[in-house]
Amino acid sequence: MISPLATGICVGLGAVAGAGLAAGAFTYASLWPGSRIFGAALTAPARPGELALTFDDGPNPAWTPRLLDILVQYEVRATFFLLGSRTIAQLELVRRIAAAGHKIGNHSWSHLNLSRAREGQVREELERTNDTLQQIIGTQVKLFRPPFGARRPAVFRIARELGLEPVLWNAMTSDWSEPSAERIAKKLTKKIDSLERRGRAANIVLHDGGHRDAAANREPSVTAAGLLLAHYAMSHRFVTVDAWC
Ligand SMILES: [Zn+2]
Repeated sequence: MISPLATGICVGLGAVAGAGLAAGAFTYASLWPGSRIFGAALTAPARPGELALTFDDGPNPAWTPRLLDILVQYEVRATFFLLGSRTIAQLELVRRIAAAGHKIGNHSWSHLNLSRAREGQVREELERTNDTLQQIIGTQVKLFRPPFGARRPAVFRIARELGLEPVLWNAMTSDWSEPSAERIAKKLTKKIDSLERRGRAANIVLHDGGHRDAAANREPSVTAAGLLLAHYAMSHRFVTVDAWC
């Protein structure tokens, strides 16, 4: 049987549109997660009641372990988009994430803005991360989230050539710069509830790491994850994003 991931068919996948964009439209198309102009990517399907917690820019030795402890309390599995360059010094932590049943995705090697990188660089960033993650966890990585959400058609084409399904999001706030966990959780709750009213699942981004700081203080983000779990665990179904593929 052909894996749905290999064929790029996910239930939360958007459609593709054309070329010939003005400069403003180019910026919109390459950075805005809702834009489909630069190719289809998985956001979230029409499955109200389903929530995917996703965490970017780890592994972070200071905060990822705490997050794993919280997730296990709720018996919830999440999706972790890891930076390849950060995994080398955190082999045990990466293995711990995988062993707990969470999904691991490729978030590039160095958090490069891939919408501006040469194709050779894009391929190297993704391939090196794929190979490194596979060596550490022993299985092939199938999910990819572009750093900053930045992409152009070549980025998604190269990702798919490497067996990766591009994943964006539809629920995010500036958790990396917000010191109050309560405010992060409140803003995300508002977005999640609004998506649900429109009949959508929520693909939620939080940051357990920082692409500028390998040991960034992510106490607010990690605490916010706990608040969301406390709020939704009884009434909603938490899934890993591959459940939508
Ligand atoms: Zn990132």
